[in-house]
Amino acid sequence: MTLDHLALSRATVDRVTKRRTDQDWIDAAWKDPRTRVLVVHDGQALVRDDHLVFVAPEEAPAGTRFLLGEDADGTVYFGVSAPLGPAGTGVRAASLREVGTLLSDRDAGLLTHAVALANWHDTHVRCPLDGTPTVPDAAGHSAVCPKDGSEHFPRTDPAVIMLVTDPEDRCLLARNAAWPPRRVSILAGFVEPGESAEQAVIREVAEETGITVTNVRYVGSQPWPMPRSLMLGFRADAPAGQSIAVDQEELTEARWWSRAGLLAAIGAGELALPPAVSIARHIIELWYGGPLPSTWTAGGRS
Ligand SMILES: [Zn+2]
Repeated sequence: MTLDHLALSRATVDRVTKRRTDQDWIDAAWKDPRTRVLVVHDGQALVRDDHLVFVAPEEAPAGTRFLLGEDADGTVYFGVSAPLGPAGTGVRAASLREVGTLLSDRDAGLLTHAVALANWHDTHVRCPLDGTPTVPDAAGHSAVCPKDGSEHFPRTDPAVIMLVTDPEDRCLLARNAAWPPRRVSILAGFVEPGESAEQAVIREVAEETGITVTNVRYVGSQPWPMPRSLMLGFRADAPAGQSIAVDQEELTEARWWSRAGLLAAIGAGELALPPAVSIARHIIELWYGGPLPSTWTAGGRS
């Protein structure tokens, strides 16, 4: 079984990667009044009635510009990393966490792409070799050092997130030390250099809970550009005869939950699950076999 309909994995716009080096095409697209520009700043964009608010190129503020893609109807989309400007009536600034599930497939994909690129440009402004300010290239999808010519590409940090079950098909849920009471989720961690995703699953589960897992299998992925993660979802089995030993630095508690026990605890207000925008929620519901009640309140993290 695999996941689909993940909130931030719904992009529909063609990224037209071959156009990124076609300056004549890019210039023409930027002059075309039908072209739509999405301004993003600090992970937010302007939203009206759960739709992104775009501006025409001539209205776009100065800032780092990047080509997002072209729609099936020929509309070209750019992103610009710049302050959002005033929000008019009915318009608000919103992040992917807030509107990731509310936007259309097209808009969710565009905002995810734009936020990811803007986060990279905002934090990688100099050549890592000699400190020279870099110049965006490939329509904002890379940057070049004008001094030594080195080329630099956007960063994506792979992370694994995994639902572990015991021989009774109970799932392991844990509470991160940084979270308020009641919040629980499945385990997660970053893939280290020189490590496979499957190895990271095994290592992270062992480090955080002392549980050894087998039969690691991939279920789906979702970009999570807060600021630059790609969440790789897995399931894994915990053979019988093991006891949980929580790493108290990262987790405050971890325990096995049966489906009935989990539902009862949510109903009693004792537990809150991650929000629907997160891949964690979908992996838990994939195991559960359907939708579960309860979400974290605003500001919750996956
Ligand atoms: Zn350099």
